[in-house]
Amino acid sequence: MIHAVRPVAAMASYALADLGNASLISLAQNESAVPPSPKALSAGRAALARSTLYPDPDWHDLRRAIAAVHPVETASLLCGAGSMELIGCLIRAFAGPGDDVLGTQYGYLFVATAAQQAGTRYIRASETDYTVSIDAVLARVTDITRIVVVCNPGNPTGTRIPNADLLRLRAALPDNILLIIDQAYAEFDDQDHAPIFALVSRGETVVTRTLSKAYGLAGARVGWGALPPAIGAEVRKLLNPNNISNSSQAMAVAAIQDRAHLCAAVAEIAKIRNSFAARLRAAGYAVPKSATNFVLIPFSDIEAAHRADRALREAGYILRGMRGYGLPHCLRATIGAARDMEAVAQTLEVLA
Ligand SMILES: *Cc1c(COP(=O)(O)O)cnc(C)c1O
Repeated sequence: MIHAVRPVAAMASYALADLGNASLISLAQNESAVPPSPKALSAGRAALARSTLYPDPDWHDLRRAIAAVHPVETASLLCGAGSMELIGCLIRAFAGPGDDVLGTQYGYLFVATAAQQAGTRYIRASETDYTVSIDAVLARVTDITRIVVVCNPGNPTGTRIPNADLLRLRAALPDNILLIIDQAYAEFDDQDHAPIFALVSRGETVVTRTLSKAYGLAGARVGWGALPPAIGAEVRKLLNPNNISNSSQAMAVAAIQDRAHLCAAVAEIAKIRNSFAARLRAAGYAVPKSATNFVLIPFSDIEAAHRADRALREAGYILRGMRGYGLPHCLRATIGAARDMEAVAQTLEVLA
């Protein structure tokens, strides 16, 4: 009998999305309703011709493309096979047994998995009205807190806090605590993010981004982070060398450079989202205001959420169940094409 080492044997598997049967349209993984830039697709196809060669392990062109559109230094950038790779490596590099990683009540569940992989404890500060509370986070900080993770805008709530609140959090946190700001949905959040990137140069804050959501490249697996150099040097030891394929790097570069396509995609998704959310609110659902490409739909109770899930599957759609987040009375709806959101809204109106 072969046994895994004890911390691994004790772990639960990461809860992958239930995508139902193949005939259902998935609104379960916050993938983009808008295809990626055509320039990204042609750059990716051209890069396939270089498949004999290992990809650039330094992501040279990709880091230059990122630094051309965000207030970050190329030297502070690391790229990951999705931002999940970076978040996982950050936690393993900076927290271990006996330490705490502090997240928020409805924070991104992958962080809990990454903490388990690191053999470190994950605790959660309560949120108010599905929204991160900086005061609640600060109240949970102790001598063993090594990392604080805040996702803004939040998944699965869709809510956002002002960036000024994150500056206040950083100012109040001791300098020996690493703050990870997960900005997977920042492109949908129209506030100025320059002050958040400016925190990185002070040495104790990391900002992560992804191409998986607004850029429509979830399948390419590209994420990036702005990290203080000393933090980045440690994380780099844990990254897989050659972690992002040639074609994925090429797609990411072209997608980042196509600002017009990104703006149009974000505007289109926000428009569909706002009318979908308004319709659900008119039907009596207390949908929190979303600054992302999804909305959280609270039902009156767990049974009502199950009823809605069954009705939506019958109508051909699968949303994300929220039991893992401690929200079994909710479903999360990724914003898809307008006609699909029309069908989902109609189904939910009947049940309201
Ligand atoms: C989708 C998502 C990510 C990014 O995942 P990738 O690994 O880059 O695809 C990170 N954080 C949150 C909260 C997300 O929802």
